[in-house]
Amino acid sequence: MDYFYIGIDDTDSPDGMCTTYLASSILNEFERNAIEIEDFPRLIRLNPFAPFKTRGNGGVSFKLSLDQDIALAKEIVLDYVSRLSMFDCENTNPGVVFYKGEITPSMVDYSLKAIYSIISIEEAEEFAGEIGAEIHKFKKGRGIIGSIAAISCPLEDYTYELLAYRESEKFGQLRKIDYDSVYEMDKETFPETFENIDGKYLAIEPKTPCPVLYGIRANNPEVLKKAYDMVVPNENIADFQIFKTNQHTDMHIQDVDCIADMKQYSCYKIRGEVKDKPHVIEGGHMFFTLFDESSEIECAAYEPTKSFRKTVSKLSAGDVVELYGGIGRENTFNIEKFQVIDLNDVVYKNPLCQCGKRMTSAGRNKGFKCKHCGKTIKSDEKVKEHVKRDLIEGRFYETPVSARRHLAKPLIRMNLD
Ligand code: ATP
Repeated sequence: MDYFYIGIDDTDSPDGMCTTYLASSILNEFERNAIEIEDFPRLIRLNPFAPFKTRGNGGVSFKLSLDQDIALAKEIVLDYVSRLSMFDCENTNPGVVFYKGEITPSMVDYSLKAIYSIISIEEAEEFAGEIGAEIHKFKKGRGIIGSIAAISCPLEDYTYELLAYRESEKFGQLRKIDYDSVYEMDKETFPETFENIDGKYLAIEPKTPCPVLYGIRANNPEVLKKAYDMVVPNENIADFQIFKTNQHTDMHIQDVDCIADMKQYSCYKIRGEVKDKPHVIEGGHMFFTLFDESSEIECAAYEPTKSFRKTVSKLSAGDVVELYGGIGRENTFNIEKFQVIDLNDVVYKNPLCQCGKRMTSAGRNKGFKCKHCGKTIKSDEKVKEHVKRDLIEGRFYETPVSARRHLAKPLIRMNLD
């Protein structure tokens, strides 16, 4: 069925604004003008490795039935984007896209490309021409890349996010959300809402000067109303909006046959064998090498993944794992979560002496000797032993809430026993 679609992206900067807030302001203006949208507004997260993203690389879209006042809707959108975008920031290059019709298979392919890889402004502009979309570029207009994708993205699996916005005089000031109320809300609504808290860390609260006071993520919109009523903010909420979104769906993760087929700035599920014991470098980042018959790749659990590094450190050479994550700027695979497929519980050790002590090497090709009782043996062969492992085969392990990507599907949504 034909609809009128609106896509908006790239309106914010690290110093302020948020495309969802701008969209919410537009929706309020629509309401004042009796313009109704179909379904929920959508917040679509695109490639987490896109080079010019401000934070979470999200674009916004909404759809209207054709009996709405389309001309007025367009006027309102362009007016709000031109007034509220953070034009002073070099990296803010808003793009608005209007499209009338059906979402075609080529539009779906385009949106998947925007999630899986990198698209240029020229490519987006050419594609808009092909589908007959109307584009509005502000400054460089990079936002059209994400706007077309936000309109076109299919949502087979989806979640909802309720975003509560602050009064404008509070923008940039410290947020004071009552921790206990969030704790209670989490207790009452989890797992239908998720990623609310992480120990003492309030995950619903952004740490940037944007207009968002908090965001609550959930599987359905009903539970969000209940959660909203439970959170005590200690400041006025100017407005709130519920978005339908591809967040927490693993939509960015592609299946791939082998390591050699993976590309930089894309995200995958990849199976391989651990080559070496994970090690930490300066700054607290943890690395190991994963290999298969085609190639090998350095894998990382960076410092912000905190306790996840301890889990990763339990991996050993010979373990077979399935990693979920993506290849970033350093050409390293950033792990979001992993499943243990097969644990190598075999180690080769120096033999045990009759006296019960572990023997040491007597020198190259000279066998082993016991420092305790003096006994020697001529053979150089180490003995095979089985060790108890601190990981469980078949089990998934994920980064903590504080270090999780918007698109990453948390284990709580994966229906795992
Ligand atoms: P926020 O999450 O706070 O709204 P953001 O992280 O979404 O900010 P934007 O300001 O929207 O960042 O900037 C992201 C830019 O990257 C946009 O111009 C968007 O069109 C563009 N973009 C999105 N996906 C891709 C992609 N796959 N390849 C190239 N550019 C992309």
